[in-house]
Amino acid sequence: MTDSAAVPAFEARAYGAANQTARLAAMKIRRREPQPDDVQLEVLFCGICHSDLHQVRNEWSSFMPTTYPCVPGHEIVGRVTKAGRNARKFREGDLVAVGCMVDSCRGCASCRDGLEQYCQGPATFTYNGPDKHLGGVTFGGYSEQMVVDQGYVLRVSDRLDPAGAAPLVCAGITTYSPLRHFGLKAGHAIGIVGLGGLGHMAVKFARAFGAHVVVFTTSPGKAEDAMRLGAHEVVVSRDAAAMLARAGSLDFVLDTVSAPHDINAYVACLKRDGTMIMVGAPEQPTPLLGVGLLFGRRRLAGSLIGGIRETQEMLDFCAEHGITADVERIRMQQVNDAYERLLKGDVKYRFVIDMASLRQG
Ligand code: NAP
Ligand code: ZN
Repeated sequence: MTDSAAVPAFEARAYGAANQTARLAAMKIRRREPQPDDVQLEVLFCGICHSDLHQVRNEWSSFMPTTYPCVPGHEIVGRVTKAGRNARKFREGDLVAVGCMVDSCRGCASCRDGLEQYCQGPATFTYNGPDKHLGGVTFGGYSEQMVVDQGYVLRVSDRLDPAGAAPLVCAGITTYSPLRHFGLKAGHAIGIVGLGGLGHMAVKFARAFGAHVVVFTTSPGKAEDAMRLGAHEVVVSRDAAAMLARAGSLDFVLDTVSAPHDINAYVACLKRDGTMIMVGAPEQPTPLLGVGLLFGRRRLAGSLIGGIRETQEMLDFCAEHGITADVERIRMQQVNDAYERLLKGDVKYRFVIDMASLRQG
């Protein structure tokens, strides 16, 4: 633990919320001067994850209450402007990314296994986590500058479009990691529920891994895009007959939905021994009819982002396979409208803030 009084800091422009009902607005925050292990980066792009909205509005109060002011943003791509004397992995000018974590205990079983997201510490999340350097809470990527320990900074290939790469470090790794961990292979059939930020990345990865991909959407207008993104089939989930026709047909279901919905209908789509993986994090509980699991020895699982090593592996995989998010670039000042559109499912398929707009004032 660093003595907060002893750490020099500088001011940076940011966008954040003063309380759970406030609109996001311009504010100034403090960042520590880079310490020997730190990398300072100028933020170029930051994606808007639905988790930002959940936390800005304190929707996760039961398990991760929000401390205000809250500066969200954990899909960050930037250029290194300074590297501390021990931060030898990085140099000025490098294209880098910062995802959902900026620190962890580094000693627990999960950290030792490279699964820092499950740190028993717990991990220090990029925003709304305790800031052990300056006190208070960490501030995320809706800001012009970040200062992060090199161990939590990822390399981004110059072959990737930086705006399209930003969502990879949350939406990307959150879908890549469970598909790898639970063993999605060529020839498996997988259902992806919800075609938003996470869902559209899941479609791209599942297709790249050789699976048969079925998208379940509430938005008939997204069907054509789903096919373009890599789906083999699209099911409009409000169509009860179409849902029934899928019963017992899938090896996996990956559920990315951000709001309460009926998960039992998807459990019924699994084959015997199939696995339903929850990555969406609605604020309300989701009732599960247990017999849906019994009949068919099915499993229900969850997954949280991914570790640092696997996130780098995923970024390298994306560079090799030319995978990025489909993004709509916005100015920082449009963020409140983007949140409203996110709530309506009106996103194709990730809003990414061009941080130059913040610097322009
Ligand atoms: P998003 O871009 O808003 O996409 C969510 C999609 O869910 C929507 O586009 C919509 O797809 C569908 N949906 C929304 N409301 C629905 C409803 N009432 N009923 C059925 N479907 C609905 O959100 P995201 O950024 O991908 O995040 C999705 C969820 O994952 C959030 O809860 C977020 O907090 C969570 N998350 C979890 C992790 C993790 O580590 N596990 C990481 C990041 C995010 P259609 O229009 O296709 O139906
Ligand atoms: Zn996220």
